Amino acid sequence: MDEFDFINSIKQKSYMQSSLIKGIGDDAAVFRQTSEEVVVAVDTFVEDIHFSLETMNPSHIGHRVLAANISDIAAMGARPAFYLVSITLPKSLPSTDRADIFEGMRSLASRYRMDLIGGDTVSGQQLSISVTVIGYVPQKKARYRSDAREGDIVFVTGTLGNSQAGFHILNGTDTYQDESYYIQKHRSPIPQIEFAQQIQEIDRVALNDISDGVGSEAIEIAEASQVTLHITETALPVSESFSQFPSDLQKKWKLFGGEDFELVGTVSKQNWQSVQQAANRIGVTVTEIGYVSEYNNHYAYLHENNSRVPLKKDGYNHLK
Ligand code: ADP
Ligand code: MG
Repeated sequence: MDEFDFINSIKQKSYMQSSLIKGIGDDAAVFRQTSEEVVVAVDTFVEDIHFSLETMNPSHIGHRVLAANISDIAAMGARPAFYLVSITLPKSLPSTDRADIFEGMRSLASRYRMDLIGGDTVSGQQLSISVTVIGYVPQKKARYRSDAREGDIVFVTGTLGNSQAGFHILNGTDTYQDESYYIQKHRSPIPQIEFAQQIQEIDRVALNDISDGVGSEAIEIAEASQVTLHITETALPVSESFSQFPSDLQKKWKLFGGEDFELVGTVSKQNWQSVQQAANRIGVTVTEIGYVSEYNNHYAYLHENNSRVPLKKDGYNHLK
């Protein structure tokens, strides 16, 4: 299959987004947008750095790289509409594998009626996939990290540490309860687009998605807002059977594991109930995990027992 046939094979037969004017097949794609704001993000994934063909099959890889991008769009409060894929393909990669990578992306994209509208295909030593996602958000409704205020509560969606637990299971020989649940969370995470849409009517919410771990995402919100986020260790939500893992790993995974693609945010106390109701409507759990104070020497603290330790972006010192 040459490059031309390959592009033809990944080209959609029809498009779902009404704002699209020209998709794949010309020098560039064209879409129209008059009323909403346009949100764009890109992420690159390189074999053996961001994923391994040993623990994931090609369709998981496709799913995951697109999920990571869609999660950034969720954290902006936007809805995803289009994606573009720049891919470096090693000659040794079977053509069924590259088809599966695109199939993994396509099946996740179809959940959101997203269209693949372009990209670039080159060959090289190592599999590398760079995905650009374009989304829309109503005017002035984008969610920024800089919107946290003193007195806010800090919340997260879902449960934390599942992706790392899945990765641990895949790389070891021990057997665990709910293995397929954790493995699924690692290979095929579902970003929180619907949740971010449900809370659109609340005037101020700071949001960030958890790609590196709730610890570092909290710091990013605090830095952007010039406040301090306080997180209570025992409040961090985990899955029911999470306690089966060694306790040092539990702590490391839920705080710094990342790649759960949940959302962490802050909202005023008055609006916390609306956030909970919104989450309830779509069957998503939200948990209060702490509060925001004025800036106090560090951007984030982890409160455990009766003491607190400053959180650092690259993990926190007890774990090193
Ligand atoms: P050009 O030489 O004009 O850049 P290409 O041959 O690279 O054109 O691409 C032809 C068409 O196929 C363009 O619409 C481009 O966006 C699309 N395309 C190429 N590679 C990919 C890919 N990996 N994913 C999606 N679309 C692609
Ligand atoms: Mg090109």
